[in-house]
Amino acid sequence: MKAAQSAAFIYLEKHALLYFEKLIKSRTIRFLTMQDTAEYTCAFCGETNTTFVDFSGGMQQSYVEDCQVCCQPNILYIQIDEDTLDIEINSEPES
Ligand SMILES: [Zn+2]
Repeated sequence: MKAAQSAAFIYLEKHALLYFEKLIKSRTIRFLTMQDTAEYTCAFCGETNTTFVDFSGGMQQSYVEDCQVCCQPNILYIQIDEDTLDIEINSEPES
């Protein structure tokens, strides 16, 4: 192999690796694990809570979770962006 050819090959290989790394770090790994953590603010005490969101439950979900700080029940409305898989959570006090 000529020097110029091998340099081009190394260049391509490096970029392919970077591309795969990027893929693996973003949505691919999140799809494979099918869950991710997200934060929400307790509707009662205002403390930040972390919850596990299961993607297999759909792009829109709602469930009740007790605050890890004050133990009051929060209704969580979860919205997952189909393209970016960003998670948005709105919390409401359960009455
Ligand atoms: Zn709370």
